[in-house]
Amino acid sequence: MGAEQTLGTSSPAETKPDQFGGPFGALVLTVVMPLASFYLWAAVDQHGGSLWLPRSLGDLAAMFPLPTVTAAALLAGWLALQGALYVFGPGPVVLGRPAHNGERAEYRINGLFSFAVSTIGLLAALYFDVVSASWLLSQWGPLLMVCSLFAVGVAALSYVAGRRRGWAERSTGNVVYDYFMGAILNPRIGRHDLKFFFESRVGMGIWAAFAVVVPAAQLEAHGQLSSAMLVVSLCQIIYIVDFFIFESNLLSMLDIIEENFGFMLWFGFLVWMPFNFTLQQQYILEADPQLSTLGGIAVLLLNVGGYYMFRSTNLQKLRFRRDPSQPIWGKVPESIDTKRGTKLLVSGWWGLARKMNYLGDILMACAWCLACGFGSVVPYFYVLYFVPLLLDRERRDYAMCSQKYGDDWERYCKRVPYRIVPYVY
Ligand code: NDP
Repeated sequence: MGAEQTLGTSSPAETKPDQFGGPFGALVLTVVMPLASFYLWAAVDQHGGSLWLPRSLGDLAAMFPLPTVTAAALLAGWLALQGALYVFGPGPVVLGRPAHNGERAEYRINGLFSFAVSTIGLLAALYFDVVSASWLLSQWGPLLMVCSLFAVGVAALSYVAGRRRGWAERSTGNVVYDYFMGAILNPRIGRHDLKFFFESRVGMGIWAAFAVVVPAAQLEAHGQLSSAMLVVSLCQIIYIVDFFIFESNLLSMLDIIEENFGFMLWFGFLVWMPFNFTLQQQYILEADPQLSTLGGIAVLLLNVGGYYMFRSTNLQKLRFRRDPSQPIWGKVPESIDTKRGTKLLVSGWWGLARKMNYLGDILMACAWCLACGFGSVVPYFYVLYFVPLLLDRERRDYAMCSQKYGDDWERYCKRVPYRIVPYVY
């Protein structure tokens, strides 16, 4: 085991089914998330990348590809490879926040290593014709189905495991809501948190693999990469590499410390992230939109600006939490002392609005979509879903911070009145 660090304590359990529209909203999302994923897959696979309406039962049936043994083997192989890299790959082990029974999960921070090994292995397999990108793409539909079925199943198992425990981790007793939101915070194998593994090595990991496979398929088919494909893939790979460089940041994010591991996250990691976040590349492969040099430069500049805002905002908080005296933008940072003990930063990006990191993320999302041109709304799905997600996430974080910090949070919000966009929102 490497050097151990510890993180703070978890907040008290909340038991009201009041997020995402309560049990009804949870039911709707449990149905809509898979339907949207299959619909979008069919849009690029069968309808030229356009929005479509089913004209026959056949159209509807084609939206649901059958699972195959090959696709199941691909998923099993990925899980086995990532599991082995996680357990045996070099990297420090960090302890998470204590759960309600005082137990702490372990997190092995070696995502960058796993990413490098998997990506180099994949590129080598493609280069030496061990496997072809077009063959991998032929498994896309079946893999989508296999991952969806797997998510439905493991979410059910997690729900049962959560209900069987001696203490409730924010579960409410409402079956539909608890299945969606989860009834267990950090399910583990041994001391290893499955949620962290699935978010990092499965969600981000498969997204990274897809972000390589789709451009490789274009290269295989046309002998070159289009500007749109090059730009989107480059931007996404930068985002993914950044995630793995700062993988330990995940341990202080809402997903790990606050959200139970229910259907929303299982489906999110296994399907939503890898399949829907690469919709732009899938669309470009299918519809081949033209991106001019000037357009490409504009998109790259937008992405670089968004990335800089996103990364430097997150780093300012991280560094401030480690050492509150470290200068931000050349000055000693200002902050608000709280009764909880932690300080709230009001300098740098954190003085302009309370979530400039979300704004940076949104700018990058816009860049990836704009690279696809204006031929269809399908590749804009990412930004159309992402903006409401972050707007809702900001509200949920606001509510949690109000609970955690009480009137200190109110003081902070008076000092920094804008939520995400300075002077606008
Ligand atoms: P934040 O990084 O903003 O973290 C929120 C927490 O930070 C609060 O709960 C509070 O926790 C602390 N905090 C809030 N304000 C201050 C302050 N002024 N000074 C010091 N601490 C403060 O949000 P997220 O965890 O939601 O997001 C992290 C990153 O992940 C963002 O860049 C976001 O864009 C990205 N993201 C990406 C997603 C994707 O799908 N691509 C999805 C979701 C997020 P405490 O005080 O307890 O530490």
